[in-house]
Amino acid sequence: MDTKNSGFHTKLIHAGFHGDPTGAVNVPIYQSSTFAFRNAAHGASLFAGDEEGYIYTRIGNPTIRALEDNVAELENGFGGIATSSGMGAVSTVFVALLSANDHVVSTDSVYGPSRGLVENHLSRFGVTSTFVNTSKLDDVESAFRPQTKVLYVETPANPSMQVTDIKAAAELAHAHNCLLVVDNTFASPYLQKPLDLGADVVLHSVTKFLNGHADIVGGIIVANTKELYKRIRSLMINFGCNMDPHQAFLVLRGIKTLAIRVERAQQNAMAIARWLENDPRVAWVRYIGLESHPQHELAKRQMSGFGAMISFELKGGLEAGRQMMDRVRLATLAVSLGGVETLIEHPASMTHAGMSSENREAAGIGDGLVRYAVGIEDLEDLIADLKQALEAY
Ligand SMILES: *Cc1c(COP(=O)(O)O)cnc(C)c1O
Repeated sequence: MDTKNSGFHTKLIHAGFHGDPTGAVNVPIYQSSTFAFRNAAHGASLFAGDEEGYIYTRIGNPTIRALEDNVAELENGFGGIATSSGMGAVSTVFVALLSANDHVVSTDSVYGPSRGLVENHLSRFGVTSTFVNTSKLDDVESAFRPQTKVLYVETPANPSMQVTDIKAAAELAHAHNCLLVVDNTFASPYLQKPLDLGADVVLHSVTKFLNGHADIVGGIIVANTKELYKRIRSLMINFGCNMDPHQAFLVLRGIKTLAIRVERAQQNAMAIARWLENDPRVAWVRYIGLESHPQHELAKRQMSGFGAMISFELKGGLEAGRQMMDRVRLATLAVSLGGVETLIEHPASMTHAGMSSENREAAGIGDGLVRYAVGIEDLEDLIADLKQALEAY
C-alpha cells in the first residue's frame, strides 16, 4: 500500500512492503544470492538500469529493499541503503563523500569507532579532520577550512548527551559548500528527522533502536537526493558491506514496534533521571529531558521526545561507578543500547577506550561517567535495582 501520506505509526508497520505474489502478509526472507533473468535481454536491461528488478543480493534483494524503503519513508528521504553494521554505514558514507585531501568537521564525542575510522584510517588517504563540540556553533564555524567537505554530527551525542542544532548546522555546512551527515542512532526517526531540518544524509546503527531487540547488528543510510543516493549506494556495492536478507527481516519485525518501545523506554528514562538527580550519592546526571541539561530547550524544539539514554557520575567517581556496575542485577553490564533490555556500561574503559584520555576529557567523557541505556522493564524494578546497587555508599 502507498503510505506516503500516512501517519508515522502506520508507516512503521506498512511502509516499504508492496505485497508478495504468494499473499504473504509480511515480506518473506528472500534467502537467495542470485536471481534468474527471464532471458538474455532481461539480464542486459537490468544491468543497464533500464528496468527495475533483482540481479544479485549484494546489489539488491527484495527483503533488504523493503527495509530500505521503510526507513527512507520514516526519515522522509529519497532512498535507503542497508549495510552489514552501523560502522558499515559510517564508513560507506565517509568514503563515498570524501576524496584525498578533503577535511571533515565532526562532533568530538561521536561513537568511538566513527572517530577512529577518520583519525586512524582515512588519515592514511590524506583525509584530515577537526573534532569539536558541535553544540557550540561558533566552534563549528571556526573549524571549517576551504577543503571541508563533510560536517558530521551525532546528536544527541554518545555518551556526552550534547545536543547539536541540526537546522543551524545544515545552514553552516551549506554556506561552506559542504554536506551535513547526521548519525541519528540515539534519537531514531521517531524522535528526530534530520533530513527535514536540512541534513543531506542520515545514518543509523540499526543494531540499536530501529531493531530494538539486541539480536543483530546492522546499519542503514538514507540520502536526501537521488544523486547522493546513487553515489553512496554504488560505494556500498563495491565495499560489499550489504545487509543480509535474514538481518533485514528481523529489523523489519523490530521496527514495527519502534514507537511504542521508545515511548515506554523514555518514560522510564525520565523517571530514572529524576530519581538519580535527587540521590545524594550522584554527582551529576545528563539526560536531555531534565531542565538541568544545557541544551534542554533545543532538544524540546528539535525532537519530539528525549529518548532513553542517561549518563551520570557518582560522587565516588570511577571506583564507585565500577562497583555499582558490578552490583546491578537487572541492568546488564554490556555495551550497545536501544534494546528492550536495560544496559549499563563504562565508556572510558569500554566503548570509548580507543580515544586518548585527553580527547575523552575534551569531549566531556570523564573516567567516572556511567552510561545507562534504559529498556522497557517495569520502572519500579529498575529503580529497585539501582537502589540496591548504590546501597554500598
Ligand atoms: C553502535 C553505534 C554505531 C555503530 O554501529 P554498529 O552497528 O555497532 O556497527 C554508530 N553510531 C552510534 C551512535 C552507535 O551507537
